[in-house]
Amino acid sequence: MKLAIPIFATTVSASCHGRPPAYANAKCCADLAADASLQGKVYLPGSSAYTTRLGEYYSANAALAPSCMVLPTTTDEVSKIAALIHKTKCQFGMRAGGHSAFAGSNSVAAGVTVDFGYMNTTTYTAGDETAGVQAGSTWGKAYAALDPFGVTVAGGRASVVGVGGFITGGGYSFHSNSAGFGCDTVRNFEIVLANGTVVNANADENADLWRAQKGGSGNFGFITRVDLDVQPTNKLWAGFVGFQPEQIEGYYQTYLDFVDNMASDLASQTLLGVIANEGPNITRNAIVSNSRGVVRAPAFDRILAVPNVTETLFTDSINVIVPVFTGPTPLGLFSNWIVEMYSSDIRMLTFIDAALLRATAEMRIAAPGSKFQVLLELQPVTQSMVQHSVANGGNVLGLERVVADGPAVMFLIALTVDTAANQDIILPLTLKFRDEVNAFADSLGLNKNWKYAPYAFGDQDPLSHYGNENLALIRSVSKKFDPRGDFQRLRRSGFKIPV
Ligand SMILES: Cc1cc2nc3c(=O)[nH]c(=O)nc-3n(C[C@H](O)[C@H](O)[C@H](O)COP(=O)(O)OP(=O)(O)OC[C@H]3O[C@@H](n4cnc5c(N)ncnc54)[C@H](O)[C@@H]3O)c2cc1C
Repeated sequence: MKLAIPIFATTVSASCHGRPPAYANAKCCADLAADASLQGKVYLPGSSAYTTRLGEYYSANAALAPSCMVLPTTTDEVSKIAALIHKTKCQFGMRAGGHSAFAGSNSVAAGVTVDFGYMNTTTYTAGDETAGVQAGSTWGKAYAALDPFGVTVAGGRASVVGVGGFITGGGYSFHSNSAGFGCDTVRNFEIVLANGTVVNANADENADLWRAQKGGSGNFGFITRVDLDVQPTNKLWAGFVGFQPEQIEGYYQTYLDFVDNMASDLASQTLLGVIANEGPNITRNAIVSNSRGVVRAPAFDRILAVPNVTETLFTDSINVIVPVFTGPTPLGLFSNWIVEMYSSDIRMLTFIDAALLRATAEMRIAAPGSKFQVLLELQPVTQSMVQHSVANGGNVLGLERVVADGPAVMFLIALTVDTAANQDIILPLTLKFRDEVNAFADSLGLNKNWKYAPYAFGDQDPLSHYGNENLALIRSVSKKFDPRGDFQRLRRSGFKIPV
């Protein structure tokens, strides 16, 4: 494919010291587009490939239009791209599955978006206990590739979610209670450093980078592949259970009882989903799962005894079940994800429920005619999960503090709005709702002050909550593997290391 290059391509000196960023950005795009080995892989504004790809972001907020996109197909190409960015000092962003929501999570308004969308294969050798998954894969693709072997990996609970963002931020899966976070199942990262050098990071080689990368977000290099422990079966028993509105007390209390006992059945998990939208009704459901495929394990006895209106529970391969969970995920709506972490306490859950009713009533009045959805997810983080992390070599999430006195509940607010104008009205009300819940948690000493990066809003600075020791490791690894600080200064997407 021949692309028009609307920027100068020649007579530029190799060094760009002192040049404005616009110059470096234009030169990077021109050099990438002129590289014969990248033909067809550099998308420039105005081309149909560029426009189509920009339309493939989960959130319209995230779809920033860069000076160019480059979609490498091999680690060598990533190395070449990294070396060029390093030399030219242009700004860049990183995109894997493109499912983070905030502006600046996975693209750049000026500079190069390095898009791993073509690096999406999964390899598995029967008998080996790891699967090599490229960073640009979605979890749906990885599950499908592993399905014939009867195994799976601890990945996302929606097919569309990308490997890169999920694994670098933690990764909450159907296997978290039995295997820890997704990042805890990484045996090896293949990473292209800022200067283009390719390294492996595992327990024996670059062990500091291996640990820091488990939760350290996109701060150290371009991850090209993760080698993941496979989980012993691809079978999953899972589904949604929808509860009657009058069962609200049993709904929250049986969830808390379940969470208190999660260590006694590591394959079984539950999370709660509460959904309100422009209509008058509220939906309260639980997603229950058993990662060994056991039907109605005794751990669910109490929660399933609460009168419910719908059940979609079935056993099948994760490759079949996860697309059912994903359902239709329309692209290009105005999405915002916000996250907090509280003590697992009935007062928090009932307060959140009542505050959501008040907040959405206010939203309906403030933005009549709008279409929006506020999805709350309440997910447990338990000592059993964190113990797996420690046993697998540790990560930098700093959750030991969070679960020191018992399980915690991760509180995700996922807001989706139809138009930018309606978002301008509804997002501030959503933040007000979050602030109200935080104030309540603070007043009772139940706020854990910890933020999960894959769910975090752009200003939530998740790494600043990981604790001093983990931050010291993250800083030293950044200095060692990216001494010039490209991933802090030139990278314009994702969460940085707090200064
Ligand atoms: C429908 C839906 C379901 C979800 N389900 C879950 C779930 O079950 N569990 C869960 O934990 N989260 C879940 N999430 C959140 C999800 O994990 C995050 O949005 C995550 O960032 C998405 O990954 P991505 O690859 O699509 O990221 P992108 O948006 O493409 O990238 C986000 C960030 O990841 C980093 N990154 C991306 N690629 C690379 C790379 N190659 N090298 C280094 N860093 C890189 C960068 O910092 C980048 O800024 C869900 C999100 C959605 C929209």
